Amino acid sequence: MVKAVVGANWGDEGKGKITDMMADQADVVIRFQGGANAGHTIVNEYGKFALHTLPSGVFHQHITNIIGNGVALNIPVLMKELGNVIEQKVPTPNLLISDRCQIVMPYHILFDQYEEERLGGKSFGSTKSGIAPFYSDKYAKIGFQVNELFDEELLKEKVERVLVTKNILLKELYHKPEIDPAELLETLHEWRDMVKPYVADTSLFLDKAIKENKTILLEGQLGTMKDPDHGIYPMVTSSSTLAAYGAIGAGIAPYEIKQIVVVNKAYSSAVGAGAFTSEIFGDEADELRRRGGDGGEYGATTGRPRRMGWYDCVASKYGCRLQGATDVAFTVLDVLGYLDEIPVCVGYEIDGKVTKDFPVTHLLEKAKPVYETLPGWKSDIRGIKKYEDLPENCRKYIEFIEKEIGYPITMVSNGPAREDIIYRESALSK
Ligand code: GDP
Repeated sequence: MVKAVVGANWGDEGKGKITDMMADQADVVIRFQGGANAGHTIVNEYGKFALHTLPSGVFHQHITNIIGNGVALNIPVLMKELGNVIEQKVPTPNLLISDRCQIVMPYHILFDQYEEERLGGKSFGSTKSGIAPFYSDKYAKIGFQVNELFDEELLKEKVERVLVTKNILLKELYHKPEIDPAELLETLHEWRDMVKPYVADTSLFLDKAIKENKTILLEGQLGTMKDPDHGIYPMVTSSSTLAAYGAIGAGIAPYEIKQIVVVNKAYSSAVGAGAFTSEIFGDEADELRRRGGDGGEYGATTGRPRRMGWYDCVASKYGCRLQGATDVAFTVLDVLGYLDEIPVCVGYEIDGKVTKDFPVTHLLEKAKPVYETLPGWKSDIRGIKKYEDLPENCRKYIEFIEKEIGYPITMVSNGPAREDIIYRESALSK
């Protein structure tokens, strides 16, 4: 059975924790899109880890972890991360890299930086990990698949061919030093030797695993709002963040995905530029940021302070719909225990009209939040194991949101650890 864990909103919803938790019962965990530009934070018996490239199943010996063909593979980052995990006494993980996965080249990272510099104030707030130049090249058909590292003749010819245009851009557009093909080839040889033990036909491996009834977990990065088609374009990422893309980015049939767990945080946070309707500012935002997540809402990869906001029913309903949520995992609820009252965004006012349907970006820019205020529960809910034991106002908050979004909240996360989870029956479950 194939399951997906994906984000409803802007990312940082706590997908890492939910994946780590669900990995207990999984045989295979796969990353199917994105690159080292975002990260999950996982807290477990080995310590606290920020994973950017490794699948979240690496802490479990029984799991095969796969970097799928849809991923932007940064080889040195992957190797460093693998080294860190092993250094912190985690047993050496089982890892496979798709032979069709493409490689983030050194010039992708350079172009990302140079382009942000060139755009100045009009930049996209990129994490400068090379992701946008990487996916541009993939679709321009000048990317490098991992398997190509093992064909010397092909590799040499392609490096020389691709560098012709790259060097013109470097020289003429960015006024930066050109890249020497021989040097790049040497780097690629080093990278080839690093990945060699892990490269495999992972689609074929998965086909066999599906036939053997193995439990397979697709692990998403970021969330619906960052999807290049359905998100807040152009302030999006460059690969699809939707569960549907899991089939493509892993190389399996779409109908194999039976469960889609959409992770949705009990308040909002976002990184980078772009419209964020329920955003809050000043002391109110500072307090939520400081108390948020596990040790504050700061980027796992960049350390940047996240933008903060109240829960947004309009964005979350849309986020769940595009993901195809069979289950909503409602996370980081414990953090809200300090509030007397909790505003919830239930609609957007655009040009004097209120809507509950998420609009296209140019209308979203004009949207003003319509709030309903719910009473807080003023207590620490960490450690509670049963839904009925949650304070009444806390249950009301969950049930109000479930009704607004129309998707079943079947898991409530009340702490960063794997065991901080409350399962719940929902009338909306199909
Ligand atoms: P991801 O990219 O979606 O995995 O999100 P992050 O790695 O940014 O995770 C959000 C943060 O919240 C991490 O520091 C987690 O350890 C933490 N976290 C996850 N679930 C909970 C929860 O239920 N309560 C609290 N307090 N923290 C949580």
